[in-house]
Amino acid sequence: MRDPILVDCDGVLSDFVFGCETAARQMGFELDWDPSQYNVFHALNDRNKKQLMGYINRRGFVEELEPIPEALIGLAALRDAGYDLICVTAPWNGRYWERERKQWLRSHFGFRSKDVIQTHHKHLIRGKTLIDDKPSHCQAWGTTSGSPALLWDATYNREVDYEDDGAMNVIRVQSWDDVLAGLEAI
Ligand SMILES: [Mg+2]
Repeated sequence: MRDPILVDCDGVLSDFVFGCETAARQMGFELDWDPSQYNVFHALNDRNKKQLMGYINRRGFVEELEPIPEALIGLAALRDAGYDLICVTAPWNGRYWERERKQWLRSHFGFRSKDVIQTHHKHLIRGKTLIDDKPSHCQAWGTTSGSPALLWDATYNREVDYEDDGAMNVIRVQSWDDVLAGLEAI
């Protein structure tokens, strides 16, 4: 069996940041948020952070996240090209999170339950590559596996420039066409 492509969820398939921002605004929080920071929590005081955390942990939060439209087309293209896909996603602590994530991935992206791995230790999972928007995950995976990880470009991860450090084994991608081209080169 060929090594699968490992695909992150939040920020790559699901619009987690928008979900958090929407929740925070619905809760009436003052939100002076710089989108170059991934973590919307940075824009909140301690009390509001705690309340938003509670909101994220409630039933239905994951279910209501919006899929990123380009990702629907991108994953279909990868499958059409014959790649096997495994979703590797770091869970939050809420009691509903993991179950809802699996249901969400199945209904929006057709992932079977057995093709979803929920862990923070992504570098332990074997694959052809990891597509992820978090630089630390890509760096850990790329250096451990010896195969390049694909860093999904986002406003909040541009402070990291891996072009100057090939040893990190990370390639930045800005589209699913970039992903397909990158996979041919790996
Ligand atoms: Mg992510």
